[in-house]
Amino acid sequence: MIDPFDHIRQTLDIEEVGRRYGLEVNRHHKALCLYHNDHHESMSFKNNRFKCFSCGVGGSSIDLVQKLFSLEPLQAVKKINDDFGVRLSP
Ligand SMILES: [Zn+2]
Repeated sequence: MIDPFDHIRQTLDIEEVGRRYGLEVNRHHKALCLYHNDHHESMSFKNNRFKCFSCGVGGSSIDLVQKLFSLEPLQAVKKINDDFGVRLSP
């Protein structure tokens, strides 16, 4: 039995997930932070996780979707599942 959280974290590119939902990830793999009032791209993407060098928040693509749409973890997994066709039934 695959854990849907692990599956999404491992198989989906976090930058692709961010872009799909309107995040502007630049060619340096950075974007404006969603967790503080950012005027310069402080949020950095690496190893399929994000990390903000200004406010220190970090996480996975699931955390990102939770923040973008104010969702609970399971709701975020369901949304990603629906939008990306991960074909999981959490
Ligand atoms: Zn930040």
